[in-house]
Amino acid sequence: MNKYIQEYQKIVSTVVKKSFPSLKNKKIRIIEYGILTGPYYFFTSGFEAYLFGTHLVGFNIKLRKLKDSKEEVLNALIAHELCHAEDHEKFKNDIEIIIHCIKYAISQISGKSYCRITERKTDIQTIKKGYGKELMTSSPH
Ligand SMILES: [Zn+2]
Repeated sequence: MNKYIQEYQKIVSTVVKKSFPSLKNKKIRIIEYGILTGPYYFFTSGFEAYLFGTHLVGFNIKLRKLKDSKEEVLNALIAHELCHAEDHEKFKNDIEIIIHCIKYAISQISGKSYCRITERKTDIQTIKKGYGKELMTSSPH
């Protein structure tokens, strides 16, 4: 495990403890994705996916380059992804989650509203959890 993942893990457990009691005993696995070279561009800074009882939280490898406002950006991003995790806990079973993920992916590619509505709802939840100020300094999606 590299030091970045260790750092994310630390912040994730702090944010879970502080604001996400429902995720306290859930399995959360952290990964990095993307390529470090090339222009400083985020396709997405992070994602969360839930399948077979594990929440997978991914961080764009380019977040390693963050210097200013690093803490605020990471807090907001993690709170946003954990709001997805909390939402995904409400699905009845894996089939419902898979359908949701397919709908989300198709709408993202085709520019339909399903993913935008999901992201908007998630941002509102993030603000309600008290991460509004941090959210203004970053845009997870
Ligand atoms: Zn999101």
